[in-house]
Amino acid sequence: MLTRDRWIERASGVRHPAGVFLGGEFVQAEESLPVFSPRANGLVAEVGAAGASQVDRAVLAARAAFERWSRSGPKVRAAYLFRLAELIERDAEPLALLISLEMGKPIREALDIEIPAVARTFRWYAELAGKEPGEVADTDPSALALVTRRPAGVVAAVTPWNFPLTMAAWKLAPALAAGNTVLLKPAEQSPLSALRLASLIAEAGFPDGVVSILNGPGPVTGAALGRHPRVDVLTFTGSTAVGREFLRYAADSNLKRVWLELGGKSPNLIFADAPDLAAAADTAAWAIFFNAGQMCTAGSRLLLHRPIAEEVLTRIAERATDYTPGDPLDPATRMGPLVSAKQRDAVLAHVDQAVAEGAELALGGTPDGLHFPPTVLTGLRPDQRIVREEVFGPVLSVLTFDTEDQAVELANDTGYGLAAAVWTADLGVAHRVSRRLRAGTVWVNCYEEGDESVPFGGIGLSGHGRDKSRHALDKFTDLTTTWISLP
Ligand code: NAP
Ligand code: MG
Repeated sequence: MLTRDRWIERASGVRHPAGVFLGGEFVQAEESLPVFSPRANGLVAEVGAAGASQVDRAVLAARAAFERWSRSGPKVRAAYLFRLAELIERDAEPLALLISLEMGKPIREALDIEIPAVARTFRWYAELAGKEPGEVADTDPSALALVTRRPAGVVAAVTPWNFPLTMAAWKLAPALAAGNTVLLKPAEQSPLSALRLASLIAEAGFPDGVVSILNGPGPVTGAALGRHPRVDVLTFTGSTAVGREFLRYAADSNLKRVWLELGGKSPNLIFADAPDLAAAADTAAWAIFFNAGQMCTAGSRLLLHRPIAEEVLTRIAERATDYTPGDPLDPATRMGPLVSAKQRDAVLAHVDQAVAEGAELALGGTPDGLHFPPTVLTGLRPDQRIVREEVFGPVLSVLTFDTEDQAVELANDTGYGLAAAVWTADLGVAHRVSRRLRAGTVWVNCYEEGDESVPFGGIGLSGHGRDKSRHALDKFTDLTTTWISLP
């Protein structure tokens, strides 16, 4: 790992491609987008942005490219994805640096966690391409019925800034492997890593128009994709409010399929018999302070069995010192700044309101610029805003329970349903509780574990549809029946 000074030196030499990556090349942008760095808490660059007419051109290029790409065969498509994975690994350091600069992720985590996940995702779907055969249905002898998977067509992906390249890869890799062409609209906070990805896509030699990357503001560039009559599928990760917008765009245009991954308010339940209480507490701290809490799966509601509540909270307070906010370019930093002043103000407003309503600040303090201290709130009621709404910051809401039923009731008292965890040594409790928790993923005696082989996504206000695993292909393919009458 480079030293902080070396990372800073590299940061000063960073150059970004000019323009918009449209139809296989960088073209002059219609609009421009200012780029703020949370590290500097100021403007660091201007990059090109696509306006509505460039979105239109990119969709037409994607449509034109679809005919050949969809018929190129899975082995051909896999070869491009493998090549891209190699280039991402080759450029791991510059990619990690851009992520750290644009959204404040600690450089160590960008390099050791995010970039490897991105490369793995492209490789995993390259390996899967061609391994999801169709069916021959069990019909009457007078017919032959084939059920085949067809690529849906032009896919638009609108993604957030918290894991900018992981979210892009979760959409791009399965959609491309299945034979679709893709338009990516990254978040306005994270356009730099996306531009670098565009350069790598060009270098990997993807045919023109198979991928376009369109930076730009959500209400302009994102909305143009959402409303476009020739986009077949829209896959989105971000806030519930914007997810609703995409459903409206689809309803008002061509009824494109919309897939939503919308964050959560995930409960983390620790029972008194947890096999290793210290590990449970350490993981509970990590589950809310990792990525400064800017995680859709953040374990933001900690539900503690009353007999061990104090012990766990003491341990979390000790652990919290590991997450003292620092310079994201320092390899020792485990928590960087929040992404923006707007985000900082929103998180602070949540905490201030909770305290005004009588919550106790068991841990916390005043933010320093965008550095938000690890915060733990106790003495809460289940109906308070901080317990119910996604905060997207390093803020843990703690509630206690006495019985298994009460734990499940508290855990499920939310419109969200993305993730949940239960810590216990009792196999019966583990199975009963994990079955009753309403969430797309339930972890037992761990948090945030998983790999490409398992589906990821939510229910309720957390959205629907699954990223990762072979099930992601369902979002980007249509089943077609070919019924042949046999004479
Ligand atoms: P967001 O507004 O939902 O942004 C997600 C994506 O949607 C971005 O690319 C954004 O573009 C785009 N977008 C925004 N408004 C749009 C519109 N009217 N039409 C079309 N596209 C639009 O999320 P955010 O502003 O980054 O964060 C706000 C909150 O969302 C957070 O506090 C958090 O609660 C939640 N969030 C959840 C996740 C998750 O992983 N589920 C990730 C990030 C945020 P712009 O960047 O230009 O706005
Ligand atoms: Mg936004």
